[in-house]
Amino acid sequence: MSEPQAEPGVPLSLHRGVTAGFWYCVGEKCCFSYQLRCDNLTIDSPCASPATVGSPLQRTCRVKIDRVEAINLVYKYPPPGGFRYAGGMCTGRVTTIILVHTDSGEIGVGSVYSHPALVHLIVEKQLDELLRGQDPTQVEELWQKMAAITLWYGRKGAAVSALGGVDTALWDLRGKAAGKPVWQLLGGERPECPAYASGLLWNDIDALAAEATAHVEAGFRRVKMRLARSEAFDREAVKAVRASIGPNCDIMVDTSMRYHLELARRMGRFFAEQGVFWYEEPFAPDDIDAYCALRGTVSVPISAGENEFGLQGFRELIRAGAVDIVQPDASRCGGISEVRRVALLAAEHGLRIATHSWSDAVAITANAHVVAAAPNGITVEVDRTTLPFIDQLLVEPLDIRDGQLQLSGAPGLGIELNFEVVDRYRMADPLDLPLGSYSDMMFGKEHFPQPFEYVEDRG
Ligand SMILES: [Mg+2]
Repeated sequence: MSEPQAEPGVPLSLHRGVTAGFWYCVGEKCCFSYQLRCDNLTIDSPCASPATVGSPLQRTCRVKIDRVEAINLVYKYPPPGGFRYAGGMCTGRVTTIILVHTDSGEIGVGSVYSHPALVHLIVEKQLDELLRGQDPTQVEELWQKMAAITLWYGRKGAAVSALGGVDTALWDLRGKAAGKPVWQLLGGERPECPAYASGLLWNDIDALAAEATAHVEAGFRRVKMRLARSEAFDREAVKAVRASIGPNCDIMVDTSMRYHLELARRMGRFFAEQGVFWYEEPFAPDDIDAYCALRGTVSVPISAGENEFGLQGFRELIRAGAVDIVQPDASRCGGISEVRRVALLAAEHGLRIATHSWSDAVAITANAHVVAAAPNGITVEVDRTTLPFIDQLLVEPLDIRDGQLQLSGAPGLGIELNFEVVDRYRMADPLDLPLGSYSDMMFGKEHFPQPFEYVEDRG
């Protein structure tokens, strides 16, 4: 059987099973798009005639994983801190960038949002050794290997988050190998994804109204606000933001797991009156019975999932009938692969997904690729609290136009890290995080959540 001929722009992998690079042809000249190095074979761009296209690559030429790197980043807000929220005063932010290096020189990028030191240990002391020499495009197989080796200590929490960051980097490499963006590999048809502005923390009411207006002026059509401060504040804040952005933009509310069932029902009726688009995390993630008791008694869709891990965790949430909108996060729940599986499971139950992101622009982008391709995907979260991991980490910053995050048509995730920014915020010792409150994670006694009374208004 004769070898198929290379066609302009068609990934070579489709012709010969090669996993990186692609040929393009102009007239009689065919060129390899970039240097490919594997099995001691190096092929440069300059061109060959169609008759010889591919002949140097007749041998099996698979890119292999060279090493896996976890880079912990920390950003400290200037005193007195970044913002007040239901957990206290946020003093800084953390995230972990994953780099999967290959012997072709190509690098896949992912990210993890969990305890930085634990993630570093899991990635560099266990997953790295497991993955070295493996074909990075065998994403599902490698996910199962990583899950199997961490199963006994990591079905939920830092380990599945860590393997998820690696999984996302593998998807980046798979896309680069195929010459296609990940959203397209996942079945998407459009290089954009609805996005919402996430911010509107505890603040003066007038400041919240002004901030909401600024988000809309910046191109967003949906905003999410943090409540659970007091019943009077929660009501006043929602009314002010609604008045600020008008009836044609959506408001989502996050109640930070601080409500009890009676309060949740009362506030749910108020949120319905205000046309709230979704009602996020009224209860702790394990309080599934409370979610089930609330759902259906208020007309606002109930959402949760940012604190859930792995497909089985989401299966429990979904099977119980706890939520209307499922909120997985590639940087927490198990990578692009697991968000995709959760989206499929949600679809089987007639539910929609809206991914969580609260860490960096890599996580937002990874989530957006899945949501863009998922028929039941609603939107992705974009942290607008002014964070360098969002605003400066990528060479090409996130681009939101008319409520849509623009996705690149470049292979893989279509992003390029700004390594000057990576180095600026890199933790000197990846195992030694400065004490502080990092929005979701607190280290050091003085940063632990203080007793807090939510004043209700039963009148
Ligand atoms: Mg939330």
